[in-house]
Amino acid sequence: MAQRSGSSKVTAKKINGVPKANAWLTYDENKRKEVLGLSENYKDFLSTHKTERECVKGAIELAKAKGYRDLEDYIKSGTPLKAGDKVYHSNMGKALVLYIIGERPLEEGMKILGAHIDSPRLDLKQVPLYEDAEQAMFDTHYYGGIKKYQWVTVPLALHGVVAKKDGSVIEINIGEKDDDPVFEISDLLIHLSSKQIEKKGDKVIEGEDLNILVGSEPLKDVDANAVRANILKILKDKYDIEDDDFLSAEIEAVPAGRARDLGLDRSMIAGYGHDDRVCAYTSLIAMLETEKVDRTAACLLVDKEEIGSVGATGMHSFFFENSVAELVNLTGDYSELKVRRALANSHMLSSDVSAAYDANYWEAFEDMNAAYFGKGIVYNKYTGSKGKSGSNDANAEYMAKIRAAMDNNGVAFQTAELGRIDIGGGGTIAYIMAKYNMQVIDAGVPVLCMHAPWEIVSKSDVYEAKQAYIAFLKEI
Ligand code: MN
Ligand code: MN
Repeated sequence: MAQRSGSSKVTAKKINGVPKANAWLTYDENKRKEVLGLSENYKDFLSTHKTERECVKGAIELAKAKGYRDLEDYIKSGTPLKAGDKVYHSNMGKALVLYIIGERPLEEGMKILGAHIDSPRLDLKQVPLYEDAEQAMFDTHYYGGIKKYQWVTVPLALHGVVAKKDGSVIEINIGEKDDDPVFEISDLLIHLSSKQIEKKGDKVIEGEDLNILVGSEPLKDVDANAVRANILKILKDKYDIEDDDFLSAEIEAVPAGRARDLGLDRSMIAGYGHDDRVCAYTSLIAMLETEKVDRTAACLLVDKEEIGSVGATGMHSFFFENSVAELVNLTGDYSELKVRRALANSHMLSSDVSAAYDANYWEAFEDMNAAYFGKGIVYNKYTGSKGKSGSNDANAEYMAKIRAAMDNNGVAFQTAELGRIDIGGGGTIAYIMAKYNMQVIDAGVPVLCMHAPWEIVSKSDVYEAKQAYIAFLKEI
C-alpha cells in the first residue's frame, strides 16, 4: 500500500471535540520511569514464558510471592475462606484463576479480569521426525490463525513437555540461551521462485510446508536414515526421549530470542506472544498489586482462545464455573442458586489485544474508530464480523461505568473497532462469559502485526492497561 497522502486525520482524532492526548505527553519524569520499569518486567516475563504452561507456572510463582495459596488445599481440607484471603486455582497447569476474597458475599458478584495465555505457533505433530536427502525434519501443525509465509526463515525455539508412559514429564526448552542451537523452516531461494511468488498469499507457503530443519549429520555405521538416527540418539542421550514419546508430547515451535525495545526512542516492544500475554501479564500484575476488595476479584488466564476457546483448558470448559462453586462452598452455605447469582452479578473486562493503526496499511482502518499507539487501553464495545456477528456487544450502561472509572483514576483509554467494516473480524472470550448474564466488555492493548512471529506494542499502552485493571478492581 502506498504512503498516505495529505495530512492524516489521526492526530486530529477527537472525542466530543476534545483532542485525545498521547499518553506519553501526560507523564512527568517519575511516571515515565514507572512506565519504563513495568515494560522491563514485562519484557522479562514475555521472553521467558512462551507457552501457556510456562505462563501458568510463572504466574503461580509471582502469586505465591504475594501470599496467594493453592485453592486445592482449601478444597481438600475443607478450610473456610474469609475476606482478604488470596488463592489461585490451576486447571491442568495450562489455565489459571486467581481470587481475592471480598468483604461482600459472592452472590453479589465478582470483578473479573480475563485474558488468554496461548499464542499462535507451530505444534510438532504426534509423529514428527523424518529424513529427506540427509536432512532431518520435524513436521508441524500450525496453531491459531497465521500468515504461514511469516514463519519461514526465522530462528525458532522448541518449548514444551514430553509425557512418558511411567507418568514422568520431561520439560523441553531449546533455543533461548545464547549458546543453544535454534531451528528454522526453509523458504525457496529467490533465484528459483518465479513460480512460487506468483501464488496467492495463503498458498505461497502451505501448512504441510512448515517443516522444521533439525539436523544434517549422519550417525556412523547406520545404513538408512542415519541423520534421523543421530537426532534420536541425541534426544535419548540428552533428554531421555524415545521416538515413540512424541506420541504423548506437546512441543511448540515459537520464535527464538528475547523481547526487545523497538525504535530509536525505545518507546515500543517487539516480542513474540503479545497476543495475549500483554493483557494477561498486566491483568496479573494489577491483581497482585490489589490488596483488598469489596466484592471478590478474579483474574482468569485461559488457554485455547486462538482455536476457539475449546477443550478442558479453554474458556468453554466448566472449570471456572466449578471453581466459583468451590468458592461459594468455602465461604458459607453452598447452593447452586448462589453460584448462579455470583456469576450473573459479576462484571468483567475480557481483555484481548486490539489491532493498532498501521501507517503502512492505513486503508484497513477507519480513522475515528481505530486504536492508536500511545492512547491507552482500548475498549471494544463489540468485535465480530459481517454485521457484528459473533460479538458480545457490551451494554451502553456498562461502558458508561467503565468510562467513569477510567476518568476518575486518570487512565488513558480509547475506543476502537477491529478495522474497517467487512474486511475481516475476530472474536474473544467475552461472549462465553456473557452467557452467565454478567456484564462483559472487550478491552486490551493495541498491537501491530498481530499473530506475526514478532508483534509490536507501545510501552505506554502496556502501562495504561495495568492502570486500567487496577482502576477496574477498585471502582467497579
Ligand atoms: Mn489472537
Ligand atoms: Mn487474542
